Amino acid sequence: MNAYLEPKHEMVRKLVRQFAETELTKEVIDEIEETHEYPKEIFDKMAKCGFYGMRVPQELGGQGADYRSYVIMAEELARVSVVSNIWATTPNSLAGGPILNEGTDEQKEKYLKPVMNGEMKICFALTEPEAGSDPSGMTTTAVKDGDDYILNGRKCFITMAPIADYAIVFARTNPDPKAREISAFIVDMKLEGVSTGAPEKKMGVIGCPTSDVILNNVRVSKDALLGEEGSGLRNALATLDVGRMACAAQAVGVAEAALEEAIKYSKERKQFGKPLCKHQAIAFMLADMATEVEAMRGLLYQAAWMKDKGSKEVGKFASMAKYYCAEKANEICGKAVQIHGGYGFMKDYKVERFYRDARVMTIYEGTSQVQQMVISRAILK
Ligand SMILES: Cc1cc2nc3c(=O)[nH]c(=O)nc-3n(C[C@H](O)[C@H](O)[C@H](O)COP(=O)(O)OP(=O)(O)OC[C@H]3O[C@@H](n4cnc5c(N)ncnc54)[C@H](O)[C@@H]3O)c2cc1C
Repeated sequence: MNAYLEPKHEMVRKLVRQFAETELTKEVIDEIEETHEYPKEIFDKMAKCGFYGMRVPQELGGQGADYRSYVIMAEELARVSVVSNIWATTPNSLAGGPILNEGTDEQKEKYLKPVMNGEMKICFALTEPEAGSDPSGMTTTAVKDGDDYILNGRKCFITMAPIADYAIVFARTNPDPKAREISAFIVDMKLEGVSTGAPEKKMGVIGCPTSDVILNNVRVSKDALLGEEGSGLRNALATLDVGRMACAAQAVGVAEAALEEAIKYSKERKQFGKPLCKHQAIAFMLADMATEVEAMRGLLYQAAWMKDKGSKEVGKFASMAKYYCAEKANEICGKAVQIHGGYGFMKDYKVERFYRDARVMTIYEGTSQVQQMVISRAILK
């Protein structure tokens, strides 16, 4: 057992692994890849297991689990199906996080319970066509009109937007770009003036739709404001701190799965009269992959442990975990494809999906370069 974990965390691993291996069968995953639809039956089962409320305190009806339990849940789901990990972590992080951070008691009651039960979906709308790594460059505005705000703008690449009931929209409440005054609003997707673009055609994480959110003179009441005017960027960044750990866990899960598949295949496939794993070049490649997976786990569990202990340095470590795990997952999935040779390029083998699913991990929730910025700022201050 990793030194940062306790027996209860290994129990979470066992239970989630059992769920993932029983429910997320090859047939289910093939169907998702084929139809691009996530089965409602599995979505509902994950709600029943309490996955969507892992991070929500028990007094609000959630599991109140610690961060180590949360990242282990994320890791174990990603080990079998990265897209299932996205369905399970989004309610805890991008959807639930901003409400947990700054929501009023009424907002927590109204939104968190149905999200945890799987009855409501909320997306997180920060990125814009001209403002990705630098969200302070956003141009979406929220202009006060009596007791209401009028929202205008366009968000892009928003996970779950086409099926979301609400969006947490980040918008400028002070038109002066130098003011960096960004506020968060919970916007009902059925309101007049809200629309979504066509679902994007993506390389990986098939089965969870992503699209633009367009806001055209959308009137929301002041009750839609989340936190104070101007606190939106702080809320978004605090949410992403946790999101980054879930993303690192996703990377550990897919890397572990790629390693397992590569080991299995290298024992079965023979070339030059012996199994691939008996060729030192392949055995050493596997040794590197196994070492890297353990190093990834170490960083991830350390970051989650720091969060559990309330360490002030957790932001730096969450970025280190996200950066290292995402980069290494890409390398490991690439090596797993290499070990499979031509078969690794074919959809019949799991490593083909792992390779495509890992690719986005160095991009979303802050690119690797953004993580390098966070880490370098922390060590150079
Ligand atoms: C599948 C998917 C789902 C997503 N889901 C969501 C979501 O739910 N909500 C949401 O708000 N967003 C979401 N995003 C958006 C995602 O967070 C952004 O794509 C990401 O932050 C990068 O922004 P960008 O694509 O505009 O790239 P850019 O910011 O244009 O960056 C392009 C490249 O330049 C690099 N770069 C940028 N600035 C610097 C710099 N100063 N120094 C060095 N290099 C730099 C970047 O690292 C990157 O390599 C999602 C994206 C994808 C692909």
